[in-house]
Amino acid sequence: MALLQISEPGQTTAPHQHRLAVGIDLGTTNSLVATVRSGDAQTLPDEQGHHLLPSVVRYAETGIEVGEAAVEHAVIDPSNTIVSVKRLMGRAAGDLKSLAESSPYLFSTSESAVPKIHTRSGDVSAVEVSAEILKTLKARAVATLGDDLVGAVITVPAYFDDAQRQATKDAARLAGLNVLRLLNEPTAAAVAYGLDTGQEGIIAIYDLGGGTFDISILRLKQGVFEVLATGGDSALGGDDFDHTIAEWILEQSGSKKVPSASLVRLLKREARSAKEQLAHVDEVNIKVETGDFFWQGSLSRSQMRTLIEPLIKKTIMACRRSLRDADVTTEDVLEVVMVGGSTRTLAVREMVGDFFQREPLVSIDPDKVVAVGAALQADVLAGNKPDDEMLLLDVIPLSLGIETMGGLAEKIIYRNTPIPVAKAQDFTTYKDGQTAMAVHVVQGERELVDDCRSLARFDLRGFPSHVAGAVRIRVTYQVDADGLLTVSAREENSGIEASVDVKPSYGLTDSEIETMLRDSMDHASDDMHSRMLREQQVEAERVVEALDAALKKDGDELLSDEERNNIAQARVQLLEAKAGDDAESIKAAIKTLESACADYVARRMNSNIRNAMQGHSINEYAGKDQE
Ligand code: ADP
Ligand code: MG
Repeated sequence: MALLQISEPGQTTAPHQHRLAVGIDLGTTNSLVATVRSGDAQTLPDEQGHHLLPSVVRYAETGIEVGEAAVEHAVIDPSNTIVSVKRLMGRAAGDLKSLAESSPYLFSTSESAVPKIHTRSGDVSAVEVSAEILKTLKARAVATLGDDLVGAVITVPAYFDDAQRQATKDAARLAGLNVLRLLNEPTAAAVAYGLDTGQEGIIAIYDLGGGTFDISILRLKQGVFEVLATGGDSALGGDDFDHTIAEWILEQSGSKKVPSASLVRLLKREARSAKEQLAHVDEVNIKVETGDFFWQGSLSRSQMRTLIEPLIKKTIMACRRSLRDADVTTEDVLEVVMVGGSTRTLAVREMVGDFFQREPLVSIDPDKVVAVGAALQADVLAGNKPDDEMLLLDVIPLSLGIETMGGLAEKIIYRNTPIPVAKAQDFTTYKDGQTAMAVHVVQGERELVDDCRSLARFDLRGFPSHVAGAVRIRVTYQVDADGLLTVSAREENSGIEASVDVKPSYGLTDSEIETMLRDSMDHASDDMHSRMLREQQVEAERVVEALDAALKKDGDELLSDEERNNIAQARVQLLEAKAGDDAESIKAAIKTLESACADYVARRMNSNIRNAMQGHSINEYAGKDQE
């Protein structure tokens, strides 16, 4: 018998009591909450029996409306009804210029780095709007399950960067949710199908939602999902199917008039309803009647297929690109998982199946599959499966590095490293007497800092003065399970430390990440060249600086005029080479200067030894050198 049983404050002492945790799919169009009950992961409905909560928030006169109620009013109150807020998460004011032009919202022009949408209830940030969606889902979970929530696993797109992940976490905190972990959406879908415990290999996740298309190529290896490539189109989804079908109806009607905004809305609603029915029936009757517009007819599944085929083909092209980025072929793909409401359309399933040459997995409701996977993961993290070894790991999407001399980016954590992870690297001082070091944290695959994204800067100051190279500074990068980065620097002798949590005020768009990855491949050889050039330039600078310091100290004493001239000439040649862009000639010029200095260096050494013999210790001498 155990003598003492101690539990953490707030935690139950009964080890077998089920702890309530939920998985949340915070989608662009729809959001869901799911939980594991009696070993089964299920999404939770609202009082009317709806599982999907439209990701729409309206700031009404009477208060905040979320979901269906907000959708109904979107038409009459567009500027106070926020849709697709996910697209704004983690974006800086500067990132929004292009978005602002095409959206009905008024962005507030305050100084703050975080953009705000102007509503009748004041200025709101994307984080606050998302928090309203999360609050609604949390309330649904508490109402259905009637228990205290331990926490939630919230899913994010695989390409979400630090800022976008941080914004999602902030929204959860604002909603009063304890985030157990953020999980990549494709990883969640794979978990829902139990692929994490299956055969190791390549898995493709095809996610076609309302307004976005994402393709992710994952590799499962030793229980870890590695993101080999992500791709897609952030402006392609089921809404485009609706649009195409609506245009077809208009064409069929023979109407020559420019349709009013309200007719367009009605046509799209009818188109969407027809499209959704065609997932189950071969043909639907459509009737559109409003004002002076009337059309009645039918649409068959094969007619619809002809209409939307060009759109589906676009997604297939993106799949092909992503496979190429991941350096795999369709034959390597073990499973294809269908995610998103639009994969209910049979034509989509067929064309995707044809492309990958295998039946896609469709048995789990495609718009619930991400939430289901998140719920399974939440259940494990809440500690309901103490024997289960499964600790799902994600990976970081882009390498994290530090700026070194010459504007080079030194990678500390490589992209696709499973998280959580901590990596340390030691750095030394570049100059004698240096007592501070600037740490510049960057993200990206390129060799030069200018081609990477700057995430944060901080200084480590006040460490003791020593000769160049004698100080050791350990810089540690730590990425937690949610993909959030903390960087710390510590001078080992004095123990002086500084650190930052990287919470950048802006993020990368998915296409920017793609571009950065593509650029890094395209520029690999350029980058090698630039890196070598910068390295030689830095080395040249170091050599010249050391030489100048030495000459100042004992040049007159130890050198003849001729020797001095030779050295001066080689020094000028090196500076000229350094100004050029050929690494090899800088290297050669360094060599020449070094050999011109060989005798001088030897003499200096002897003189140092002599000095030491004259009752000075080497240490003392080195001490003098520190000025
Ligand atoms: P998101 O991931 O963007 O939040 P969803 O995965 O919820 O979006 O997908 C929403 C889309 O799915 C909408 O375009 C909707 O019309 C479409 N959809 C829902 N049900 C069906 C169906 N039965 N057949 C075809 N499309 C459907
Ligand atoms: Mg989705």
